[in-house]
Amino acid sequence: MTVRDNLAAVRQRIEAACARAGRNPADVRIVAVTKYIDAERALHVLDAGIADLGENRAGQLLEKYERIGDRAVWHFIGTLQSRKVKEIIDKVDYIHSLDRLSLAKEIEKRAVRPVKCFVQVNVSGEATKHGLSPDETVPFIEQLRSFSHIEVVGLMTMAPHIEDEAVLRTCFRQLRALKERVQALRLAHAPCTELSMGMSNDYEIAIEEGATFVRIGSALVGSL
Ligand SMILES: *Cc1c(COP(=O)(O)O)cnc(C)c1O
Repeated sequence: MTVRDNLAAVRQRIEAACARAGRNPADVRIVAVTKYIDAERALHVLDAGIADLGENRAGQLLEKYERIGDRAVWHFIGTLQSRKVKEIIDKVDYIHSLDRLSLAKEIEKRAVRPVKCFVQVNVSGEATKHGLSPDETVPFIEQLRSFSHIEVVGLMTMAPHIEDEAVLRTCFRQLRALKERVQALRLAHAPCTELSMGMSNDYEIAIEEGATFVRIGSALVGSL
């Protein structure tokens, strides 16, 4: 399978999920997660017509950025160590994993322009997952009011690795409800209009529940 074949299949499934939910497919942005492939192959993803690339490690992002540069819109999607912020901050357009005040302070200190951030929420409550608890999320976002270089564009979550559709759906639904709570506060620094949720195994359910950014790796590039 080529990335074009994979992309056509993913797009078809996105369209079907949107149809089921009465949504416009143009409102769902595909972030191609390129962590499994090298920079040369990542270029094929861009050639196939996807502009948004996601990486979960600073080293891999830098390596690919060297080759690809600003031809891609870069998304940092993994756990971000504060000491790595300065290495990637002028290269990334989106950070999907803002999950603590110390990280926000480091971003604020190093950024030269406002950075679009998703606050990561651990909706499922699994001990192994990063992210704020739902209860901590609103107070955390309110604390970012004075951070002139952080724009909270939305919330992000990773659903548990399970097949149970009902559990996944509940998880995505809870993130959406939380997003709507933040949105209702009408905070200038936190428009919070976006939902980054859904990966290869659960993106269709995530879209039915309102995802606006899906982070898809293996279904797009896993077979390259
Ligand atoms: C790897 C990764 C993805 C993509 O996972 P796939 O199951 O391969 O689609 C999405 N989000 C994050 C944070 C990841 O680390």
